[in-house]
Amino acid sequence: MSFAALNLLPELLRAVEEQGYTEPTPIQAKAIPEILARHDIMGCAQTGTGKTAGFTLPLLQLLHPHASTSTSPARHPVRALVLVPTRELAAQVEESVRTYGKYVPLRIAVVYGGIDIKPQIKALHAGVEIVVATPGRLIDHLEQKSINLSQVQILVLDEADRMLDMGFMPAITRILGVLPKQRQNLLFSATFSEEIKRLAGEFMRAPKMIEVARRNAPAELVTHQVYEVPAAKKAALLAHLIRSRDMKQVLIFVRMKRDADKLARQLQRDGLPAAAIHGDRSQGERTVALDEFKTGQSRILVATDVAARGIDIDQLPFVINYEIPNTPEDYVHRIGRTGRAGTPGEAISLVSPDEMEYLAGIEKLLKRAIPRVAVPEGLGEERGAGARHGRDAPSRSPTRSPAGAPESREAPPRSRPPEDRDAHRRRPRGSIDSPPVPGLRPDPSFDFSKPYEPSASSKTEETAAPAPARVGPPGAKRPRPVAAIFRVKPKENA
Ligand code: AMP
Repeated sequence: MSFAALNLLPELLRAVEEQGYTEPTPIQAKAIPEILARHDIMGCAQTGTGKTAGFTLPLLQLLHPHASTSTSPARHPVRALVLVPTRELAAQVEESVRTYGKYVPLRIAVVYGGIDIKPQIKALHAGVEIVVATPGRLIDHLEQKSINLSQVQILVLDEADRMLDMGFMPAITRILGVLPKQRQNLLFSATFSEEIKRLAGEFMRAPKMIEVARRNAPAELVTHQVYEVPAAKKAALLAHLIRSRDMKQVLIFVRMKRDADKLARQLQRDGLPAAAIHGDRSQGERTVALDEFKTGQSRILVATDVAARGIDIDQLPFVINYEIPNTPEDYVHRIGRTGRAGTPGEAISLVSPDEMEYLAGIEKLLKRAIPRVAVPEGLGEERGAGARHGRDAPSRSPTRSPAGAPESREAPPRSRPPEDRDAHRRRPRGSIDSPPVPGLRPDPSFDFSKPYEPSASSKTEETAAPAPARVGPPGAKRPRPVAAIFRVKPKENA
């Protein structure tokens, strides 16, 4: 199928063609006609499926009749609101709207937290048709009366599951309350939990259900392996694996910040140059470490879960869980770093006896046992009592320090939804057994049982000043925003 067959405007077809897209992705082929027909839709699709163009193109087409070159703010009321969970996604969606709307004279502004609100206010006052926003900052604007949403015709909730996970439900409810009742609603989510269905049931009108297959389910492209090994032996086994498997690029996960540094030092002592990233590193340090890893200048990166959330490398062949996470969903997030873009990846976990219960939780989530691989001779035996916490082995009891005090974690609980940081706690995701939303026609071909996969949307642009601008004026494509790890503030916790 061609884009032209979707009855898109020539201005949009031209922009799409310039992107080099030859045919619509499945979500685009399904969503675009439904959105153009002004239906509410619930799209089950994750980042990487082309969902952004899937809602942006028809949104631009529907708003096209309102495009105006007038400089009067009154001629540019907010007509479409796109809510997203993070500033990275906001920047990414903004970039897409500008790209696909290159030849359509509509204005866009992006508003998210963590940066000066004044330029955003200025942008909004100038008049914009499309606003991409994170819920918390949008509430700030509503409170300051710097935005008027009374003429919104189209509402998009992108990555709705993530927004709920991050605690944005109250903010979303509040925002829904100020929108006109008559509007089109588009909701996208990687999973459909009870909460999502409840939310959808509250504000959507007979939504059409649209699903596409996951781009790369972990089961298809990632090989999982477990080495059962005493904690004190992990460092030696790790070095052996990196060498013997000739790992050209490997991302290694630990749970604690200090263990990331410690393990990187240990590897360096073993003659394996490694860098570490975690929430206590300055933004500059993390930028350098990540850039070097992405460009292949450094081949070993040790990371904590939060710091690694934004790492998006298309062909990362190896992920090693030096310590397995105590939250099963984090395992899925971690291995989502590999096996991307159709290339196979390997997820190797070094599991000590005290981590076995966490491994059981992961296997339960994955609905299968992870194959055990024999530890090479001489690398697995524990030498006597006390060997578990060897001098240089960063691994230790998963929840308690040797002194018995709780370990510091990478991201502390926060009272306000962390729109400009990573969500650190996830609630269990929805299950296949959930009853359907009233009025929703579930597609039997969609597999709700698959575990959540992290989005590849982890791009950020810390300094992006959201100025009002025509979506249009042709110009150079803005650089892709960089990874989300930069968003983690250096003094996040102890
Ligand atoms: P998204 O899922 O919206 O984050 O899109 C993932 C990637 O797919 C982006 O880099 C888009 O530029 C790209 N993309 C979107 N639509 C198409 C298409 N029809 N053909 C090829 N690439 C596309």
